[in-house]
Amino acid sequence: MEEPEVAAIIVILVAVFFLIVGNFIVNGFNRIAEANRMKSEFISIVSHQLRSPLSIFKWTLDIMERDTKSGSRQDLTGFLKTFQGATERMIRLVNSLLEVSRIEARTLILKKEKTSLVELTRRALEDIKTYVEASNLKIEFEPQSDLPEILADRDRLLMAIQNLIDNAVRYSKGGGIITIAVKKRGPSLLWQIQDQGIGIPASQQKYIFQKFFRAVNGSRYQTEGTGIGLYITKELIEALGGEIGFKSEESRGSIFWFILPIGEEKSQTYGQ
Ligand code: ADP
Repeated sequence: MEEPEVAAIIVILVAVFFLIVGNFIVNGFNRIAEANRMKSEFISIVSHQLRSPLSIFKWTLDIMERDTKSGSRQDLTGFLKTFQGATERMIRLVNSLLEVSRIEARTLILKKEKTSLVELTRRALEDIKTYVEASNLKIEFEPQSDLPEILADRDRLLMAIQNLIDNAVRYSKGGGIITIAVKKRGPSLLWQIQDQGIGIPASQQKYIFQKFFRAVNGSRYQTEGTGIGLYITKELIEALGGEIGFKSEESRGSIFWFILPIGEEKSQTYGQ
């Protein structure tokens, strides 16, 4: 090569080319590694969460079989209640997993129907009433009476509200107060829940809406959990045109909130 400048430029171009190609290859491997990590995390979570209701089925059936053999005529109501509880847990897990796969495949069809946030909150509170009482918690919810309805997918919004209430209850230390508020904010409604629970460590707050993420203190305090509730909730709220956020302090409590536009009537496919 006679011209040193030309040689230098060729060397630089070749180096840049290899750098770009190298970067593509590294990114590709990272994506494969991440997909594999997600897959094993998914298998581990699903098998753990299915094992406990299935074990309950087995123990209950064992006891029923023993009682039948010994000829004792026990009242079956208690056993049936246990079966019901375990079945409901399995259905909820499977529904959440289906929702995740719909979100990822971008095939979630969202309805827009007149929906009362206050009514949905009351329904979610009714469903969790027994658990709240058993945990010695108090939930305060005194909404304004003149709040407008919003246009949203009722079942999906109920799921989001249930997830946030469930978390506030499950990550509360017994005996605390949980406060729920719904307020009008310009063209939107704000829904907010505040607990006095275990909070989220500052260093882990940036991961909180990631799929399968559980904070260290959360999984220690509450062994039951999948880390998919908040991921689904964020995706649903955003798909409905809203926004979600939180503030939290470890050992002091958390506030989770979302805002949704009051909006106009139509049906839409998520991701379009
Ligand atoms: P799960 O509760 O099933 O683990 P979520 O996706 O609902 O899954 O929540 C993810 C994680 O966020 C939880 O495991 C917990 O560590 C943390 N978290 C959620 N809500 C709260 C809350 N109100 N207080 C403290 N930690 C919370």
